[in-house]
Amino acid sequence: MHKKLIIIGAGPAGIGLSIVLKKMRLGFTLFEKDTVGSTFDQWPEGTQFLSPSFAGNFFKAPDLNAVCPDTAPSVLLRTEHPTGAEYAQYLRAVVRHYKLPVEEGIVVYSIEKKDAVFGLKTNQGDFTADFVVWAGGEFSFPKPGGIPGAELTTHSSQLPALDSFDASQVVPIVGGYESGYDTAINLAKVGVRSVIFDRHHHLTETRSDSSFALSPYTLSRLKKHQTLITIKPYVSIAQIEHKAPYYFLQTESGETFQFEVPPILANGFSAKHSLIKDLFEWEGNTPKITSDDESTITPNLFLVGPQVKHVNVVFCFIYKFRQRFAIVAETIAQRLGQEDDRFVAQTVAEYEDRNFYLKDLTCCEHECVC
Ligand SMILES: Cc1cc2nc3c(=O)[nH]c(=O)nc-3n(C[C@H](O)[C@H](O)[C@H](O)COP(=O)(O)OP(=O)(O)OC[C@H]3O[C@@H](n4cnc5c(N)ncnc54)[C@H](O)[C@@H]3O)c2cc1C
Repeated sequence: MHKKLIIIGAGPAGIGLSIVLKKMRLGFTLFEKDTVGSTFDQWPEGTQFLSPSFAGNFFKAPDLNAVCPDTAPSVLLRTEHPTGAEYAQYLRAVVRHYKLPVEEGIVVYSIEKKDAVFGLKTNQGDFTADFVVWAGGEFSFPKPGGIPGAELTTHSSQLPALDSFDASQVVPIVGGYESGYDTAINLAKVGVRSVIFDRHHHLTETRSDSSFALSPYTLSRLKKHQTLITIKPYVSIAQIEHKAPYYFLQTESGETFQFEVPPILANGFSAKHSLIKDLFEWEGNTPKITSDDESTITPNLFLVGPQVKHVNVVFCFIYKFRQRFAIVAETIAQRLGQEDDRFVAQTVAEYEDRNFYLKDLTCCEHECVC
């Protein structure tokens, strides 16, 4: 079956883009392998949003976790730091409100491009499309460990129930950015001690941009629980071994640490391990994109979501990557010859006015003055 535009993934990125396309009256199909916002339902126990929800929408300071200008998770959920399950409720409410045509349970297995047309293989048969937008996110693609013994670890996104940990043991955590600290704080809340191995020293990073420094929410929670959390800064783990009953973590500088429980690997995610890997050029784990967030090697394949990066501007939070939805939609409208359509122009103007449209990236180079 042929479709004009297929979006893959109904998380905040796919849903946020769909709302823009709907406002522009551009037709699209949205495939979701599971259910709307399903990755949020899988967040580990105790995990909450770091970026606070607070409705300033009508003063042009939209709720940081909103996917469109007219909604606010804080109003719907009545909480500042939603859990994953709460945020999934918000996404489902948004889908209902905007009557978005999400097709749940469609798993895309592969995307190919022949001549000017995309071919998608799915569990519901084959589709062709003129445009494809990858909104498959990162959560489904934990980064492999990349060190000998990584198979002994559990990824932080798959943390077992907190009551399965024994308070007499100390849990090693490899990785000292948000997910490492979040794991340590959630363990501390149930009385379990941990050691964070951080190859940098994220705790002392003072840049204003939350893509580089720990969030204020993490820093304030850490203060409450720091007696149970040991931080080993500038320590890079090179190898993990299990010689019963101990796990040995060897550092690059030759030191060895011994634990009774296997490590948690808090090294993040990478879409490089997803089905778009051959359709983009890569710089490490970052897909290369044009100024309109299109693949540099596959025309008409666009990217929305946390992997969007332009030079040093990282769009890894919802309040950042939502500012690119209207840019992608506007580019697709131009390719369809509809850039002068009044609904397209109105939507772009609305998104610009509501601070949901970021094209000039020089604004992101500033630091807060104090
Ligand atoms: C513990 C944790 C805390 C976080 N806290 C914050 C925070 O405080 N603030 C913030 O802004 N961000 C936070 N994030 C990051 C945020 O959750 C992500 O940036 C966001 O979910 C990305 O949205 P997305 O739509 O790109 O991806 P996802 O939410 O992962 O959605 C992608 C969707 O695509 C579907 N999909 C994938 N592959 C296929 C396929 N082959 N076929 C069909 N469907 C497919 C998936 O099922 C999924 O529903 C956090 C993340 C985690 C894990």
